Amino acid sequence: MVHKCCVDSCWNTKRANLTFHRFPLGDAERLRQWLFALNMDVKTPLHILSKLFVCQKHFQHDDYYDAANQPSRRGRLLKPNAVPTQFRHTHTSETGGPTAHTRVEHSNK
Ligand SMILES: [Zn+2]
Repeated sequence: MVHKCCVDSCWNTKRANLTFHRFPLGDAERLRQWLFALNMDVKTPLHILSKLFVCQKHFQHDDYYDAANQPSRRGRLLKPNAVPTQFRHTHTSETGGPTAHTRVEHSNK
């Protein structure tokens, strides 16, 4: 089974040398925070969530324990209260105007 990040617009897979994190299924309050942060339905069944992963790109450096405290672990260990917060919202336009650069085609008849 291939581990894949469940975040929209993020297609990282296990082979990308990233750490993947499971949802905090044992902590209802934090699980709710994760689902809210990920814009997912809070009623998503646990058996579905148990198959999903979030990659390390969506966590801040401060969400992890200091690597010096985990010398023997492969991958990085999240703090118990960590919630994914780092998302790239590519659909938002910085200028607010419509994109016009695609209209160059067919302009010279
Ligand atoms: Zn990701």
